Amino acid sequence: MDYEKLVGVYEYLERTPARLKKIEKIADLLRETPTENLSRVTLLLQGKVFPSWSEKEIGIADMLMVKIISKSTGYSGKDVLLGFKEYGDFGRVIENMVGKKKQKTLFSKPLTVEKVSENLKELAGIKGKRSQDMKLQIVSELILSANPKEAKYIVRTTLGDLRIGVAEGVMRDSIAKAFFEGDKEQMKEAVKAVEWAWFLKPDYGEIAKLAKEGGMEALRKVGIEIGKPYHVLLAEKSPSLEEAMKTFEKSALEYKYDGARIIIHKKGDEVWLYTRRLENVTKQFPELIGYVRECVRARDCVIEGEMLGFDSKTGKPMPFQFLSQRIRRKYEIDKVVKEIPIQVNLFDIVYLNGKSLFNTPMGERRKELESIIKPKPGKFQLAKQIVTKDMKKAEEFYKEALAAGQEGLIIKNMEATYQPGRRVGYWLKIKPTMENLDLVIIGAQWGTGKRTGWLGSLVLGCRNGDEFLECGMIGTGIKEKKQEGEKGSEDVTFTQLTKLLKPYIESEKGRDIRIKPKLVVEVAYEEVQKSPNYSSGYALRFPRVVRIRFDRKASDSDTLERIKKLNEKQRGR
Ligand code: AMP
Repeated sequence: MDYEKLVGVYEYLERTPARLKKIEKIADLLRETPTENLSRVTLLLQGKVFPSWSEKEIGIADMLMVKIISKSTGYSGKDVLLGFKEYGDFGRVIENMVGKKKQKTLFSKPLTVEKVSENLKELAGIKGKRSQDMKLQIVSELILSANPKEAKYIVRTTLGDLRIGVAEGVMRDSIAKAFFEGDKEQMKEAVKAVEWAWFLKPDYGEIAKLAKEGGMEALRKVGIEIGKPYHVLLAEKSPSLEEAMKTFEKSALEYKYDGARIIIHKKGDEVWLYTRRLENVTKQFPELIGYVRECVRARDCVIEGEMLGFDSKTGKPMPFQFLSQRIRRKYEIDKVVKEIPIQVNLFDIVYLNGKSLFNTPMGERRKELESIIKPKPGKFQLAKQIVTKDMKKAEEFYKEALAAGQEGLIIKNMEATYQPGRRVGYWLKIKPTMENLDLVIIGAQWGTGKRTGWLGSLVLGCRNGDEFLECGMIGTGIKEKKQEGEKGSEDVTFTQLTKLLKPYIESEKGRDIRIKPKLVVEVAYEEVQKSPNYSSGYALRFPRVVRIRFDRKASDSDTLERIKKLNEKQRGR
């Protein structure tokens, strides 16, 4: 297949921002592409020659590219750099230079997709003393037989910067459109099937071939392949431990360790390690390979856990940056193995001796996991877990996790299956929010619909000398009805707030109301952001009323100064 054909599509995609048009164009190309080239074309459309999880890299630095362009066009390195200064894109630089080159290479055969892809792949294997020269030869050979536009995209692909915006989602939808037909519902199903396959086999090149040759059946049948990475199940945020505890019939509570997800594949004696971003980190953690061989009692399996840098002196986790040093480290591994020891806390199993466990409920998966692990305490062990519905026990456990230096808890639905790639509500994560603030209510709106007659959407104010400045709006945390018994003793209801605030109404304009600064409420939130929308210049993100501070006057409330400080402090987190 002529490379020029692909280049035509690149050009169209570059000048067409509309998503649907991009999808149509890509789908047309995929449909016309012969099967033997489908994988190559699909990857090249994403600016790649290897799937994104592959360790192989083309590895051409900018300075080598300057040499390559200079050598293959006859312009000086200085000219190339000047051009780069003007366009900020070596692709456009070479397009111009090849275009102006007076002498065309005679007898050059048209470039094919195969040739471009294979030459670029070759680059990844080149190492050693003469590697720069060899790389230069290989890319130059392509450029010498390219027309200006082709040269532009060869250079961009070589540098890993295609600049035409074929995001993952666009590729997914294009493959569905290329190989499946039907009404809206059927197309939704097709997209889902492509997505499922991609979660487990993260290589659109392969997926396109499967879709073309095996249809929906083949896509839906894609399962885990030991040794290859897949997209993992993700957690959803929950506003509070209380909410999370109410969500599932049967909950398991686990420490939310503050490290990095590690996915361990074992096939006999062979072990592979992947991160959640599909990076292969097998070489970086030789001691972990040892733990797996020693402690995992299964021939083949795929298990997941959280890995931490661990300070064996204090018994506490090390800050995350130590662990990330180890993840990135490619040489002198033995030295860091000693300097930054690791600990793995296992929490899931998705494959065991030939059987996928995606459809097995979480509670049973945990049992399977326990049955095959012989823990090595402090190094390779099961994630701390309790199973309870009792709020007091849950709170104790939460405090214990925080005291141990971990991030919080994950509450898991014991009856839920494993959904690769998805942030579904099967796992809920809880982390402490910032310290609560005591703020004054200085405005509100009359409610509508069910809430007619009630005040809601409260405007929060912080103190600045004698005046009160707006720092956010809040509607969350206010209940329609108090819960019964002691549990509800501090609940704040709309009726109660309306009754308390009515006497302080200063002015009304439509639904908007100004209120004299009298009533103080305690507010929890996630973050203090700078915001031009409020007179204080700050806004609380996700604020929620915790309780009314009957014991505080407006003059005791928190100040603008404090909010400013909190904003500065959190930037360092
Ligand atoms: P987040 O990164 O905030 O979306 O939280 C989800 C991440 O928490 C997962 O991807 C894991 O890396 C990590 N994590 C820590 N402890 C656990 C646990 N016990 N179960 C599941 N995930 C955990």
